[in-house]
Amino acid sequence: MRLLIAMMKHETNTFSPVPTPLARFGHGPGPLYGEAAINAYRGTGSGLGAYLDLAERKGAEVLLPIAAGASPSRPVEDAAYEHIAGIICDAVAKGGFDGILLDLHGAMVTESFEDGEGELLRRIRALDPTTPIAVAYDMHANLYPAMIENATVVAGYRTYPHIDTYDTAHRAGEILLASLRGAVRPVMAWGNVPMLPHVMRQGSDDHPNRELQARVAAMSTEGALAASLFTGFPHADIANAGLSAVVVTDGDQALAERLRDELLDRAWGEREAFLYRLEPLEQSLARAKALDPPQPGEGPIVLLDHYDNCASGGTMDTTAVLAAILRAGLDNVAAFAIYDPAAVQQAIAAGIGSEIALAIGGKMAMPQIPGESRPVTVTGTVNTISSGRFRNKGPMGRGVLTDMGPSVVIDTGKVEIALISRHVEPSDLNCFYALGIDPMQKRFLMLKSRIHWRAGLGNVAKSVVECAGMGVCTSDYSQLSFKNVRRPIYPLDLPNR
Ligand SMILES: [Zn+2]
Repeated sequence: MRLLIAMMKHETNTFSPVPTPLARFGHGPGPLYGEAAINAYRGTGSGLGAYLDLAERKGAEVLLPIAAGASPSRPVEDAAYEHIAGIICDAVAKGGFDGILLDLHGAMVTESFEDGEGELLRRIRALDPTTPIAVAYDMHANLYPAMIENATVVAGYRTYPHIDTYDTAHRAGEILLASLRGAVRPVMAWGNVPMLPHVMRQGSDDHPNRELQARVAAMSTEGALAASLFTGFPHADIANAGLSAVVVTDGDQALAERLRDELLDRAWGEREAFLYRLEPLEQSLARAKALDPPQPGEGPIVLLDHYDNCASGGTMDTTAVLAAILRAGLDNVAAFAIYDPAAVQQAIAAGIGSEIALAIGGKMAMPQIPGESRPVTVTGTVNTISSGRFRNKGPMGRGVLTDMGPSVVIDTGKVEIALISRHVEPSDLNCFYALGIDPMQKRFLMLKSRIHWRAGLGNVAKSVVECAGMGVCTSDYSQLSFKNVRRPIYPLDLPNR
């Protein structure tokens, strides 16, 4: 058996100013290819890790031409997309594969295409109309017809934080392998409803997504080979942004459609529970200050800077929350992180132990949202200088190499501020330990994150205070000027379906 395996992943925030060239993909300057990609992902808890395990179990010969994943940012540059899609399509064109296993995101927008994944699948199908294709998608996928119609089987994550990337690809791959030996004949039904669930309300540990995903999982006992409910990615001004569902059954189209409709109806019925209530920043910090400090054995209080999550396209350099923390005089704080490669180099030049004053953050303009983020000047000691590389402790992406780029920690006496040179969301405890910060010894942790921080820190945090700051993954959707999303859509227009 010969299998073609590839990864192309990007969640596109069309409001983000952060560029997406080819160099943003991968763990260094660009994607990984061939053996290097296999070596990077084999044995990891990633989608590619699952596909490689399945291939090994089958004794299959594997071609993995490219593994390209980038942290979320603005639409992918055409040259980058053509390079990645081109390498996958060149491999497809060579032919001789029994199956194609793709680890995609599902919310990739390029300079030319609203639907990067659908365009890739359309090109693959034009070259090869018959080889079965399995696709794993992120729960934030914004589905388009071409993403389903040009695949044989599709499966989506059921957890947010995404701790089931491996399980999802494994599920998609197993169904594909079963179809190759004639054990099943997958058919799919998909659809969407006009709603944009708020990202802060999408966590699968919270109502209503907890119950919705439980229902998705239960459908496996009612004839679904794979059922998926995609909460979608709303910071994408594209026609099909929003919630959707796909159900795969064994040859029973009517059943697939019935289960799909049930998922969409249930989600629509919960639309108000997906709304998010904002609190003014100063009020949040006053509330945090009044909380009892952690007792021995208790973890830190998380101050969540959720408007500027780099894993949703944030610049990770806005300073509203950090500046307010400094103004409020909070003590024993660690902040992860401000993206500022220039400030990192200044701190490295100053050297370990030196006292410096640095203007950090606020360097990237955000023309698509109101307001302006200014640098904040901090004075402190250069505590840590690091290569910024670590392997994830998990549960998210266990074993996968994460690269923060050259990184430093500036200690103001009250606040330890991590400065990094590549965008990394704090979803893994090792992002702190790699920089010499023990998060368990801190009273407060400022995290630029929305939901994924819970993967590594959710079960150790004493409590969380959500802080409305500034950034292109703003939680105030009235700051986003939608022009292309289909209308009417909930909650922008409060329509009846
Ligand atoms: Zn996601």
